[in-house]
Amino acid sequence: MKKLFLFTILLTVLITQAQDTYIHCGKLIDTKNGKVLTNKTIIVSGKTIKSIEEGFVNSTNVTDKIIDLKNKTVMPGWIDMHVHLEEESSPTHYIEEFTLNDADIAFNAEVFAKHTLMAGFTTVRDLGGSGVNVSLRNAINAGKVIGPRIFTAEKALASTGGHADPTNGYRKDLMGNPGPKDGVVNSIEDAKQAVRQRYKNGADWIKITATGGVLSVAKSGTNPQFTQEEMDAIVATAKDYGMKVAAHAHGDEGMQRAIKAGVKTIEHGTEMSDTTMDMMIKYNCFLIPTLSAGKFVAEKAKIANYYPAIVVPKALSIGPRLQAMFASAYKKGVPFGFGTDAGVFPHGENAKEFIYMTEAGVPFIRALQAATFTNAMLLDMDKQIGIIAPGFLADIVATNDDPSQVVSTVTNVVFVMKEGVVYK
Ligand SMILES: [Zn+2]
Repeated sequence: MKKLFLFTILLTVLITQAQDTYIHCGKLIDTKNGKVLTNKTIIVSGKTIKSIEEGFVNSTNVTDKIIDLKNKTVMPGWIDMHVHLEEESSPTHYIEEFTLNDADIAFNAEVFAKHTLMAGFTTVRDLGGSGVNVSLRNAINAGKVIGPRIFTAEKALASTGGHADPTNGYRKDLMGNPGPKDGVVNSIEDAKQAVRQRYKNGADWIKITATGGVLSVAKSGTNPQFTQEEMDAIVATAKDYGMKVAAHAHGDEGMQRAIKAGVKTIEHGTEMSDTTMDMMIKYNCFLIPTLSAGKFVAEKAKIANYYPAIVVPKALSIGPRLQAMFASAYKKGVPFGFGTDAGVFPHGENAKEFIYMTEAGVPFIRALQAATFTNAMLLDMDKQIGIIAPGFLADIVATNDDPSQVVSTVTNVVFVMKEGVVYK
């Protein structure tokens, strides 16, 4: 009995003295105020940040752990608002629709998720796949596989022949007639049903393809693909189910309809006019620039047979225009987040987006704010992620150099912590 008593005391002591982690940060970026601080210690307890101390504080408790990032720059984990974790670009990508089973996709997605996390992205929004992305989110949340925290749109919504129609380019006898269950909408009723189906399937967001797109096997990359009424029905139904809507859009008309309907983000935005930029500001709609995708497709389109012939002119024309549009949108004060369209290019290269944003005239710190607390706010996670402060989840990354001085260092992430667990 006495032994049991002592054992209980010992156990209590061990539990109450659970291990804390002391991170010594040579530089620490305060994303909220846009400042680079020096010589700080972040104390992490369990999944969350306990406190931030002046100087390099050492623990008196032997069970605590010290992490030395004295010559690194530390900042909150990055958030990418536009990825496709189920797929990755390759010259054989189009044929994979006919050769990969969901299990194959799942094994690939697990690898892509890991690459994403190791590149410094502790949270992502997956804007469309077959539905494996929902299982991946759940497996990561359950700690079964390694990857970023995922918010997913499950399957993107399109109209017949639209950018996200799953059987575009198929032989006619294989096309079938995909409907709301498969994310294809051709009426107000379909629109409601398709959104409700996504909810049932476990989606967190709704994604629509408001205009044509670059990589679909279809002629137009920019035409409007939903009526105003269909988009209104999608956004209203999504709202009923607590979901926000993201709209893929290159052409101006489709973009305007989506903004009027009340979508929260415009993805790409290639041909955004001045009038539409004003609408973005008025409706507090956020542009997710995906400059990385624009660069990558324009480059690959020059390689013979990398893309189907119908895709090539779209990639050559739309890709190079994104960055200039974003530069004007930024100057005009259009709200923006950070998103890349990873999957269109290799997963794990997401951080190049920071470099492309600075090329467009955005200071690094401003781009980092987009990738941290702006994105967190869009995800309704701004009380949990996006800044390093007491009570927030311990999502922390570090680079070798100070990216506000040497932006290229973003592709060399040396430390990754997600919810208090060190992955790199
Ligand atoms: Zn995309």
